[in-house]
Amino acid sequence: MSNLEIRGLKVSVKLPDGQLKPILAGVDLTVRAGETHAIMGPNGSGKSTLAYSIAGHPKYQITGGSVTLDGADVLSMTVDERARAGLFLAMQYPVEVPGVSVANFLRTAKTAIDGEAPKLRTWAGELRGAMERLQMDPAFAQRNVNEGFSGGEKKRHEIVQLELLKPKIAILDETDSGLDIDALRVVSEGVNRIGATGETGLLLITHYTRILRYITPDYVHVFARGRIVEEGGPELAEKLEAEGYERYLAETGPAT
Ligand code: ADP
Ligand code: MG
Ligand code: MG
Repeated sequence: MSNLEIRGLKVSVKLPDGQLKPILAGVDLTVRAGETHAIMGPNGSGKSTLAYSIAGHPKYQITGGSVTLDGADVLSMTVDERARAGLFLAMQYPVEVPGVSVANFLRTAKTAIDGEAPKLRTWAGELRGAMERLQMDPAFAQRNVNEGFSGGEKKRHEIVQLELLKPKIAILDETDSGLDIDALRVVSEGVNRIGATGETGLLLITHYTRILRYITPDYVHVFARGRIVEEGGPELAEKLEAEGYERYLAETGPAT
């Protein structure tokens, strides 16, 4: 079984003047294939910094700790190597890919990750099936990646990628933001399907509790001031919905 292990992770962001601003103050988290984890927390607590750091974004500098995937050192890998190792991070892909259709993009990504092109005989059917399950128009496959996509189309495309690329670990940052209720349901069902395969570990990062009405995480971690301040099961999400994050902001003090 695959697992992502984050140990004592400390991260600073590089500011334009070259200074380092500490954001993550030591994060410990283990995500195994088949588990669904939710990271929840107030705006500015460092949730996206965690996702970007694991993705290898150059703006974020690791100042301590480790991240391993099945024992392999993720932090020393290039962004491409991370994807081939089985990490899926939606933000690693360019915002727009001019002139590249969704169909070509997905086939190229699948080929890069598997090390061989998908079988022509079965690939078209897999792509069609994945799009149907996300209730997407087949014509969508011929559009250029992210060009003029609505918020909902971007998120559905993310889930189609997950279904086809079958990563070991997927990190989804604010997958629920900007979705209307129908899109939220369809996207959540996609996430649940991927969770149910038992082959992918899911790390859902969200500020709002609403997506957790459709997806029941195995574990909930509350993030505040750059660290995990509370952990529990799905009942913790219900508590957060009722009480908000006020308590954690008062309790934890500044990140160091
Ligand atoms: P969240 O995703 O929980 O809302 P972020 O990880 O986006 O939080 O941000 C955490 C903190 O780091 C915030 O105070 C934010 O202003 C700061 N930060 C993140 N990225 C940058 C950046 N590129 N430049 C300056 N500050 C940043
Ligand atoms: Mg599960
Ligand atoms: Mg964020």
